[in-house]
Amino acid sequence: MEWPEQVDVLVIGGGPGGTPAALALAQAGRRVLLVEAGQGLGGTCLFEGCIPSKIYREVAARRRDLAEASQFGLRVGAGDSHAGVDWSAVQARRHRILAQRAQGALMKTQALPTLQVVFGRARLTGPRSASVETEGASHALRFERAILATGSMPVRPPIPGAELAGVLDSKGLLEIAEIPRSLILIGAGPVGVEMAQIFAHLGSQVTLLQRGERILEPVDSVLAQLLTQRLAGDGIAVRTGAQVQSIEAQDGELQVRYAHAGRAEQVRAQAVAVVAGRQPNVQGLGLENTSVRVGRHGVEVDELLQTAEPGIHATGDLVGQPMFAHWATAQALAVARHMLGHAAPFPRAEHNSAVIFSFPELGMAGLTEEAARGAGLDVAVAEYDYQVDARAQIGAEAFGRLRVVHERLGGRIVGIHALVDGAADLMGEAALAVRHGLRIDQLASAIHPHPTLTEAFGLAALSAR
Ligand SMILES: Cc1cc2nc3c(=O)[nH]c(=O)nc-3n(C[C@H](O)[C@H](O)[C@H](O)COP(=O)(O)OP(=O)(O)OC[C@H]3O[C@@H](n4cnc5c(N)ncnc54)[C@H](O)[C@@H]3O)c2cc1C
Repeated sequence: MEWPEQVDVLVIGGGPGGTPAALALAQAGRRVLLVEAGQGLGGTCLFEGCIPSKIYREVAARRRDLAEASQFGLRVGAGDSHAGVDWSAVQARRHRILAQRAQGALMKTQALPTLQVVFGRARLTGPRSASVETEGASHALRFERAILATGSMPVRPPIPGAELAGVLDSKGLLEIAEIPRSLILIGAGPVGVEMAQIFAHLGSQVTLLQRGERILEPVDSVLAQLLTQRLAGDGIAVRTGAQVQSIEAQDGELQVRYAHAGRAEQVRAQAVAVVAGRQPNVQGLGLENTSVRVGRHGVEVDELLQTAEPGIHATGDLVGQPMFAHWATAQALAVARHMLGHAAPFPRAEHNSAVIFSFPELGMAGLTEEAARGAGLDVAVAEYDYQVDARAQIGAEAFGRLRVVHERLGGRIVGIHALVDGAADLMGEAALAVRHGLRIDQLASAIHPHPTLTEAFGLAALSAR
């Protein structure tokens, strides 16, 4: 490869917050260098986040379906209803899918003549210069503009014993050599809740410890409460208000001591994973050689995702919450459009949507009832209970709720939240309604097909009249 001395745009980080920007800029003819420190393009999402966790969830869901087959009038052999898991086959499938996706991403970049991808570690050496370390060599280059998209890394709370062998983070848990007999998860955010149910459905005895008084702190509280019941139904021991004090190795297991309601308690398991959030990854990025500022939540940016250093933007997990792949990509594309001189809107947090891949899935678009009230909006909530829903009754379980948050005056929809098996695929309509400020009567007037989970949108909206 011929090393460029000067590029139009340097993109640091080949995850969802970097690669889409590099592709869009190169498609428009800009000379772009995309530097990625890892093994391929895809970032945390592909290699240690969204994709591997959902590959495991799929295995867990299919195992659950087998266990529930008799409810549907299916006779499966006694041994088959609790299918054993061939973990090495699951791993082989994970590696295959990851490699396929990384290869696909690389091929897209190779089709663009003005885009060069380098696997190495980039460091800013000044406001318009950087060095890139590749195997044993160092290269210097200058750039007109840069996009920093180096993502995040797990927070390690200062718990004595957290450094013990066998205490994992989310990456370690996704790479675990065998399904643990028992597992303690510290942290009940999206990753903690997803992993708790995945491993419970794969056969582990799971304990979920959460410092706060409820799980999934910023999520709709009614749905979080309903989901807490499901976690218990899956045999997961959920302890909220648990202040973890230490982790110790004992008789080949790990023991976690914690304070709960003023009492000292303890729990033991074969494996412990600390999944207590993530922090922006600024390590070794050379920000001290620029005016880029880092605050409590990450690299500080304005509403155009511009850092304090003119010409240097930052996207994705690096700039803090919300930390989702699609949000990082929306930001990356907005920055690319901005750099190309297009006056397009930047993504706004109150329009974001997301899914927690729990059992059942929890989907959200826009503001929760609590957040809307906190923002001074006068809102009402139209609800629909999936217990009475035809599609839900036909499917695995008639359980869940849809909540449509709308302004009392005028009916503008500001949030839609759903807890139901299949919620993930309801969020497209929800995101569209929130993004374009649809009124609740407009949602009611749309004709939703029967029998589908989307009918709930119309029925909830009708109940609001
Ligand atoms: C267990 C887990 C499950 C998740 N599930 C979901 C999900 O279902 N849906 C969802 O939307 N989100 C999910 N996420 C979050 C999602 O993975 C992140 O929000 C997303 O990957 C952020 O993208 P990014 O590009 O900002 O950062 P990253 O994906 O972390 O990419 C940053 C890249 O920068 C590279 N890099 C770092 N430093 C340098 C350097 N100096 N030079 C060159 N390269 C560098 C890194 O190697 C990395 O590849 C999950 C996360 C975890 C941990």
